[in-house]
Amino acid sequence: MVTLSTDVLVIGGGATGTGVTWDAALRGLDVILVDRSDLAQGTSGRFHGLLHSGGRYAVKDPKAAQECVGENQIVRRIAADCIEDTGGLFVTTPWDDPAYADRFAQGCAATGVGCEEISVAQALHDEPRLHPGITRAFRVPDGNIEVWKMVWALSHGAQQRGARILTYHAVVAVHRDGDEVTGARVRDVRSGEETDILARITVNAAGAWAGRIADLAGIEGVRVLPGRGIMIAMNHRLVNTVVNRCTMPHDGDIIVPIRTVSVIGTTDQHTEDPDDQTVMQSEVDLMLDEGEKLVPGFRRARALRVWTGVRPLFEDAKAAGTDSRDVTRAHALLDHTQRDGVGRFVTITGGKLTTFRLMAQDTVDAVCRQLGHTTPCTTKTEPLPGSESGANYRLGERLARKEANLVDEQLICECEMVPRKTLEETIARTGSTNLDDIRRQLRLGMGPCQGGFCIYRATGILHGLDGLSAEQADASLLDFLQERWKGVWPVLYGDQVRQARLDDWIFQGVLDVEHLPS
Ligand SMILES: Cc1cc2nc3c(=O)[nH]c(=O)nc-3n(C[C@H](O)[C@H](O)[C@H](O)COP(=O)(O)OP(=O)(O)OC[C@H]3O[C@@H](n4cnc5c(N)ncnc54)[C@H](O)[C@@H]3O)c2cc1C
Repeated sequence: MVTLSTDVLVIGGGATGTGVTWDAALRGLDVILVDRSDLAQGTSGRFHGLLHSGGRYAVKDPKAAQECVGENQIVRRIAADCIEDTGGLFVTTPWDDPAYADRFAQGCAATGVGCEEISVAQALHDEPRLHPGITRAFRVPDGNIEVWKMVWALSHGAQQRGARILTYHAVVAVHRDGDEVTGARVRDVRSGEETDILARITVNAAGAWAGRIADLAGIEGVRVLPGRGIMIAMNHRLVNTVVNRCTMPHDGDIIVPIRTVSVIGTTDQHTEDPDDQTVMQSEVDLMLDEGEKLVPGFRRARALRVWTGVRPLFEDAKAAGTDSRDVTRAHALLDHTQRDGVGRFVTITGGKLTTFRLMAQDTVDAVCRQLGHTTPCTTKTEPLPGSESGANYRLGERLARKEANLVDEQLICECEMVPRKTLEETIARTGSTNLDDIRRQLRLGMGPCQGGFCIYRATGILHGLDGLSAEQADASLLDFLQERWKGVWPVLYGDQVRQARLDDWIFQGVLDVEHLPS
């Protein structure tokens, strides 16, 4: 069996784990990151897309609100290319308690959330699709985050500084030597090969799965309460600003415009299993009904796709029951030396995607204390690769780039404006033959046709470039279609049925997809 050695082993390649890897690599530490799947395939790739201003937690969870306030400013700078500065609105709809608006304004003032009340007329002017019955409106600095771009930028930056990233490597055992953790055994989920990784310190950044990793280390009582939520992408930008109901957080109260779609969410159901991806029809109906309250006619828009994510909520004394909305959204750093008498092992969980950098900083500070390493954190100011210019993403950027060389280059995905060259470069750089992995890198197939027009083209390119056999290329195509279908069938109504039927005809007609040799 191969054995690798490192200073820091990071378990979990979501925003938190890649953030820890980037921070530690910047401080000159040798790092290995492992994830059981591709990067950001856990909760980080299944979230709502909101760069929180802190407004959502200003009344209910001031600590989480304050964390968001500071990090919102930093993340927009260091990950500029991954952020769209849409701004946000909190609006009181006819269904909301009018008294909450004053509490909201006070909560924002107390926690430092930049909040300005504007007239209803101004709000309706800025967002004409909003419910005309709104009675109060507040502007806040919400935005959206393109998470895959950010996680890949974190990992590339870390790799440029020597970090090793092992995707599709699941931790199957955590090694203990007496009162110390000494590393872990990982299994390559594709080949079955096992590798021992010896580490001076191990960081458990496995999000909703962190309790399971702690169990493997023989540490009891790390209770991460998985809170499952669904989100639905609608086929275009119904709003251009993030719109939130001005009320205590509840289901379906935020619409986030991101790239070419708008996403409504979320629910919050307690589940025992972090891999639970159940979507209940009642949840879909609830989202669509709640959407109507913010944007009348919401139901008539086309729902493209539904997905679930599971919140990693660290349980504290406050959460006596199982209502996961009551658990703080602030993060929890557990130094197991102090907590359990087990050295060289740290767990970081809870928090928000918005606060990933702060979570990473706190974690690597704890790592450095144990290792006696004194290099300070620089992630507050160091831009991620691709964000050096400091310019935020602007809607229309891809179109503008495409229009500059319209006749020279083939467009593979019209919805997300993915040119052939970009696709070929990504396949070559990642070496991946998995179309779903490529989707996360480029947003390929994520627009209104959900891959109907681009995926057979991408499969052909994959086949030609990589010298994949026809069977392997077919298998990659079928995997992609299966994965997309999981998110499409629960929202099959109206125009989406027509689109799904058209996609089906394309795949049957062009490729006789049901009878491909496998
Ligand atoms: C429905 C929903 C909506 C949300 N919306 C927002 C939002 O709009 N804005 C916001 O700021 N936050 C939001 N959040 C919260 C945010 O998404 C999470 O806090 C964040 O993504 C957690 O990141 P993470 O890296 O800690 O966990 P994850 O992204 O889940 O990463 C953990 C990783 O550990 C890996 N792993 C698990 N077991 C093993 C193993 N045995 N071996 C190796 N690897 C393993 C998993 O594959 C996974 O990639 C939302 C959460 C949910 C559920």
